[in-house]
Amino acid sequence: MGRPKQMLPLGGKPVLARTVEAFQKAGVPEIIVVTPPENRPELNRHFSGLIYADPGSTRLESVQNGFLKVSPQAQTVAVHDGARPLVNPAAIAACLQEAAQYGAAVLAVPVKDTVKVCHNQTVEKTLDRSALWAAQTPQCYRREILAEALEKFGAEKDATDESQLVEKLGVRVRVVPSDYKNNKITTPEDLIFAEALVNENVIYRTGFGFDLHRLEPGRKLFVGGIEIPHTKGFLGHSDGDLVLHALCDAVLGALCAGEIGILFPPTDESIKGISSVTIAKKVLEIVRAHHAEIDHMDATIITEEPKMKPHYEAVRQSLSRVFEIPVERISFKSKSHEHVGEIGRGEAAMCQAVATLKIRSSL
Ligand code: MG
Repeated sequence: MGRPKQMLPLGGKPVLARTVEAFQKAGVPEIIVVTPPENRPELNRHFSGLIYADPGSTRLESVQNGFLKVSPQAQTVAVHDGARPLVNPAAIAACLQEAAQYGAAVLAVPVKDTVKVCHNQTVEKTLDRSALWAAQTPQCYRREILAEALEKFGAEKDATDESQLVEKLGVRVRVVPSDYKNNKITTPEDLIFAEALVNENVIYRTGFGFDLHRLEPGRKLFVGGIEIPHTKGFLGHSDGDLVLHALCDAVLGALCAGEIGILFPPTDESIKGISSVTIAKKVLEIVRAHHAEIDHMDATIITEEPKMKPHYEAVRQSLSRVFEIPVERISFKSKSHEHVGEIGRGEAAMCQAVATLKIRSSL
C-alpha cells in the first residue's frame, strides 16, 4: 500500500494511533507497541508512556519481542494486530476478562461467505458454514499459557496466530463474539471502508457571516488578525477586525450557536479595544465543545482602500494561526465597490464569509 499500512492516515490520525487509543479506552494499563524506530516519533506526538519493541522477521518473533517487555506483575496479556484500528474497546475488555477466567480467548466473527477447500482451482469440498468463525485480534491469554506456547512452538514459521500454538498445548480457547468493523487493514479498499466507518457519525454544516465597519483616520487597521499599514483603521468596540468578525459569525452560524455580539456585547466596557484574535479563540473553544472542527473558510472583504491583494498570503497565514487549521483550507480575497456609495468613497468596508464545519454527531 505504498508505505507501512499501520502509519497510513485514517480520519486524520495514523492507523496505529487509533489502535492504541482503543486499548487506552479499554483501560489496558500497559501498552507495548512492536514497531520499527522510524514510526515512533509520530506515535509519541499522540501519546506518552508507550513502551516499544522491535519487530522480528516473523509475526511470532514480533510477538515474542513484545512479550519480553511485559512487566512481571501482568497476569493477562492481549496480542493485537496494529492494523485493526476499529476494535471495540468493550470487546477488548470482554476478551481479557474471558481469558482471565478460562485461560485463553479470541475475538471472532461468524464467517459470512461459504468457504470451499480447493486444489488446482477445483473445489474439493464445502465446509459447514454454521461452525466457521473468522478469528480476529486481540487474542488474550493468561501470561503463563502464552509463555509456554511461545517457548514450545514459537519457532514454527507458518502459524498465523498465537491461538494455534495455545491450542496445541491442549488449552481450550474461548471465542468472544466481535463485530465486522474490527477488520484488518490489508488492501487499499480496507482503508476506504475504515475511513467510511470512522466518519459514519460525521456531518458537515456551513454558516454565513457578515460585518461592516467605518474607516476612521488615525486608527490602526486590523485585517484577519494582522495589522496592515494604512492611514485609516476600522472603528469598533473591539479592534474592528471585520474579517475575523465575519468568519467568527460564519463558524457560530454553522454550529447554530448565536453570534459574537452575544458573546462579546458592545455595551461591555470591560472589553473595549479587545483584540479580535481573543474573540476568535473563544469561538474556537465553542467549536471544540461541540466536537467539531473547521474544515474550510472563505472570506471576501469589500473595500476601496487599501488594496488587499499584496496582503492575501499574510492574511491567510494569520487566519491559519488564529483558527488553527492548515492554510490550504483558508481562502481570502477582496473586491472593490466601484466607487459607489460609502464603501466606494472609502468611508467603510464590509466582509462576507462562509465557514464549513465537520461535526461529530453524538447520535
Ligand atoms: Mg464587527
